[in-house]
Parts: sequence; C-alpha cells; structure tokens
Amino acid sequence: MFIPFVDLKKQYQAIRAEVLAGIGEALEGMQLFLGQNVQALEAEFARYCGTEFAIGVGSGTEALHLALRACGVGPGDEVITVSHTFFATVEAIALVGARPVFVDIDPHTYNMDPSQIESRITARTRAILPVHLYGHPADMGPILELARTYNLKVIEDACQAHGAECQGCRTGSLGDVGCFSFYFTKNLGAYGEAGMMVTSDPDIARKSKMLRDHGQDAKYHHHLLGVNGRLDEIQAAVLRVKLPHLDEWNERRRSLAQAYEAGLPSSVTKPQQMPWAKHVYHLYVIRTPNRDQLRAWLEAKGVATGIHYPIPIHLQEACRGYCGNDAFLPVTEEVSGEILSLPMYPELTAEEIGYVCDCFRDFSEFGLEASKLEV
Ligand SMILES: *Cc1c(COP(=O)(O)O)cnc(C)c1O
Repeated sequence: MFIPFVDLKKQYQAIRAEVLAGIGEALEGMQLFLGQNVQALEAEFARYCGTEFAIGVGSGTEALHLALRACGVGPGDEVITVSHTFFATVEAIALVGARPVFVDIDPHTYNMDPSQIESRITARTRAILPVHLYGHPADMGPILELARTYNLKVIEDACQAHGAECQGCRTGSLGDVGCFSFYFTKNLGAYGEAGMMVTSDPDIARKSKMLRDHGQDAKYHHHLLGVNGRLDEIQAAVLRVKLPHLDEWNERRRSLAQAYEAGLPSSVTKPQQMPWAKHVYHLYVIRTPNRDQLRAWLEAKGVATGIHYPIPIHLQEACRGYCGNDAFLPVTEEVSGEILSLPMYPELTAEEIGYVCDCFRDFSEFGLEASKLEV
C-alpha cells in the first residue's frame, strides 16, 4: 500500500464542478482587483472566526508581517514568540525590523509555555506572538492576561489552526489580530498563495486594509508605506467554495485522529488535546526516541511522513547573529529530534490508518531490533 503524506487530488475531485464554476464566474466578470469574491470571503471568514473584520492578503507570511505593522511593532522592538514553528513566524518579525525573543514550549501541546513569558518581558517588548501549532491552540488565557498587565499586543499565528477553539472561541479571535495562511496543504487551502487577517479592532482593520494595498485608502492617496499584499480574486473564489466544507473536513480529521489514537502502540507519545481546546489536527504529530529508524521503516512500507520541524528557528543558519543561537530552549531542542508527522487529511480512509498502525506494530516487533543491528 502507498499512503502519501497529503493527497489534494481526492478533495479536488469532490468539489471540482463548484471550483471551476467559481473561477469561471470570476473570469467572466473580470473584476480582478479586490472584487466581489474577496469582499464576500472576508465577510464569510470574519463570521466564521467570530470577528468584526477580515482582510484578505497574499499569504500567511504577509498576514503576520502586516499584523505586526498594523500593531505598531517596528525597528528595535521585541516580540515574544516560539522557536518551534514554521520559519515564516520569525521572518515576519524580521521584516518589520523587530527582534524575536524566544520562550520554550509546553512538552504536551508543543505550543508556547505561558509560564516563561513574564521573565522575558523588557521595556522594548511590544507584542506576544503565539503559534497554534499543528492545529492545537496555544494556551491563550494566561497569554492574554500578561498582555493586559504589560500593555502588549497579541498577534496569533493561526496558520495551522483554521476552526480550532480555545475556551470555546475560534483561533484568530482571541488576540488583537489573527493571521491565517491558505497555503494549499492547510486545513483551508487555496490553489495558489493566499492569506487572511482577522480582527475586531477597527483601527487595526483600517490600517491593515491600507497596508496590503500600498498604504492607500483611495486610488493614489497613500497614507502609509505599505506593500502589494492583496488577496487575488481567483483564489478567493476557490476559498469561497471550500469554506462551507471546513467544519466537516475538520471533524473528519478529528475522527481520523481518534482512529490513530486507538490503533497506534502505547510506546509512542500521541498528540494530546487540552480540556479547554478543540484540536483540528492540521498535522498528526507523534513523538518517539527512535524517530529516524521508524521513519525509514515506514517509508519502506509505503507510508510517507514529515518532520515539523527538524531544526528549531534559533539554530537556523539565517538567524546566526540575529536572534541568539544560544537561547536556552531545552524542550524545543529535544522535541525537534523526536517528532514525526503521520499522513493526515480528510480523505484518508480507516483502512489506510489501519495499515499505518500495523506498520508501527511491525516496527516494534521486528524493525527496532533490525535497525539496532545495522548501527
Ligand atoms: C504556513 C505557515 C505560515 C506561512 O504561511 P504562507 O501562506 O505559506 O506564507 C506561517 N506560520 C505557520 C505556523 C505556518 O504553518
């Protein structure tokens, strides 16, 4: 059996007619500059997240970059975030001339450990940037409380957490701004680059709208130095077809996660869902000390896997001299050597999950011993 890490073709087959009709209509209208689809998607996605406003942008990275700008974060400022994330979280901080200050992660959720934030706050700290990694929300309660006490902005990196919930609130709606990516493999993915900012703060919404469009609010009236960061109309048409399916796709991911939970051996650490959280399993990440042997074993059996992420940001070459390669982040460093992402997408079948679980059992029985002999 061959099980790819993600299979986008199956989903496309199911929604093909609607997608092609949506793209066709957008092209017939030829209203390609911030047209009807972008406006409608913004209203629909704001409603979905439970915020007043949504602003369509070119990517998740753009959403993070412009969110920091709209919150007034700039050169010399510090932003508290995590090193265990996708690189773009930190690139956005660099783009505005600010500096990341890393805190370690919680070993159970792999998200920002709020108990470490307070000791890292300085006179330069302007914002906290938690990441809802893998589809599990960061522990927003204490993060928001610290932000209130120290008058800091909170920017959520919700790029992996469309529809996830923290204390009953959708991710993106808890902080000052929420940032989403519609990169094609995300729980809600476009067929090209796309992203979205959500907020209930009218001032942040107004600035973000200008920033994504060269800082203008009317043609050739530039109030801010912005960027070309608009969401395009064809991607918005695709996303409008997909958004009504998001909850059903997330539920499917959740039931597949339960099947993994029941079928995988107890020797591996499975993802946990905190009592205050709703996990949407953008990635299904297990933890095991024999990660590399296990990964090779699964690959030989036809099961594709991933590692999210193998090198923490603070140890990346690009960050040398920028954000402190000497940061003390023992949990982050330990976790990055032991995590493994298993196939996870709504179209995966129970039979396929069963096969992956069988491969794990075979590994515990034969593979582990064999790999020890080889070394
Ligand atoms: C995907 C992702 C981004 C970047 O989104 P793009 O649309 O690819 O720019 C940022 N942060 C996290 C955690 C992501 O997973």
